[in-house]
Amino acid sequence: RSNFRHLVVGADTKIPLFNSQFVTAINFDNAASTPPFVSVMEEINKFSTMYSSIHRGTGYKSKVSSQLFEEARSIILNFVNADPLRDTVIFVKNTTEAINKLSYRLWEGNKKSVILSTWMEHHSNDLPWRNKFQVDYIQTDSFGKLSLGDLENKLTKHKGNVKLVTVTGASNVTGYVNPIHKIAELAHRYQAKILVDGAQLVPHNAVNMKPKNPLHHIDYLAFSAHKMYAPFGIGVLIAPQETFNKGISEFVGGGTAEIVTHDWVVWDNPPHKEEAGSPNVMGVVALVAAIKTLTAVGMRTIDHYENELTNYANLKLRSIPGITLYAQTAPGEPRIGVIPFNIKGIAHEQVATILSNEAGIAVRTGCFCTQPYIQKLLSISPQQMEFYRRSGNAARPGIVRLSFGLYNDFSEINTLCQILEKISKHPTTYIY
Ligand code: PMP
Repeated sequence: RSNFRHLVVGADTKIPLFNSQFVTAINFDNAASTPPFVSVMEEINKFSTMYSSIHRGTGYKSKVSSQLFEEARSIILNFVNADPLRDTVIFVKNTTEAINKLSYRLWEGNKKSVILSTWMEHHSNDLPWRNKFQVDYIQTDSFGKLSLGDLENKLTKHKGNVKLVTVTGASNVTGYVNPIHKIAELAHRYQAKILVDGAQLVPHNAVNMKPKNPLHHIDYLAFSAHKMYAPFGIGVLIAPQETFNKGISEFVGGGTAEIVTHDWVVWDNPPHKEEAGSPNVMGVVALVAAIKTLTAVGMRTIDHYENELTNYANLKLRSIPGITLYAQTAPGEPRIGVIPFNIKGIAHEQVATILSNEAGIAVRTGCFCTQPYIQKLLSISPQQMEFYRRSGNAARPGIVRLSFGLYNDFSEINTLCQILEKISKHPTTYIY
């Protein structure tokens, strides 16, 4: 059993099955969102007695709330070893908003500069760049791993024009962990900056934005609280303050300006200039509580335990006939607990329905907002994609995804594999 099960809320919730029997819910969809930590809910409750408007309030509670909100920035910077003097934390809704914000703030009003994204990006680290920059996509190899050779080719091809290399820290489809410091070194050698989409990496691995070698520094980092045992609606963009000195945010309004007349405006300094409107103070308190619990457990311990779960699941899945596993890593190769697979002869959605109905197991299926990567992993041709586009509602190919959190148990993997074995032997028996 996991030593960390007691840390999350509702790990042993009973839910009804298709046959009305009750079982303990099994959640293998942590890459989408994790349940909250008990400590997070306790902190939210505790803070609710002090909850008040921040920054402009004069009352005691406002002052306490403002202080907690501002102190959170240094706790977050420290968690990922950012530079406390140069970097700032901008509070946003989630990773998607963080990346949209950065794309807007780096944009120079024309499509002259190049952004190097990759074939394995979530749509949130692809679409925001498209209408503002020329985007080129770094290739993945036949296993779906990022090609550093192709990164170097593209940096050479667009020499002097690449503004940013933007790459996911870990894939939400295959769980591969990208060598972000090597990528940073290559980007920096070509005078480009690097953004790491940390949505999947930060909850599972220790992230070090500023290792000793300056070439390895990560310039920008984005992540979401709801994937790290805190609630929805809060995320961060970590960036050098200077990124926001020039220009203004895509959203302006209350909290962003020092002086306003009808003729001119003196903008506040970053990060306030970037955070228009009343912010999500409760979310920030919750995120800090989650970071404290993750730190207390230890990111290395979490990584180690989740790797054991992943290796165990991979081993068991490999022995089930008819299963195709789409991600392969050598022993010791870094990876987060995400396992993509399909079963021969049965559609991905159907596998998910059976797992839910028969055993109360939650997984995710489809393309996980990472469609080009899935198209590549499943060798779907542009002609086939055109067919899907024209036929509108045709059932589209996809993958079943398992994703583990620190509270998942080996016994839950056993339950999963028992059902998968049954499905693989008799794929047509289950009709709902
Ligand atoms: N990037 C990756 C790699 C993700 O997995 C996700 C969430 N699935 C996102 C970005 C977007 O995160 P959010 O929905 O919290 O903005």
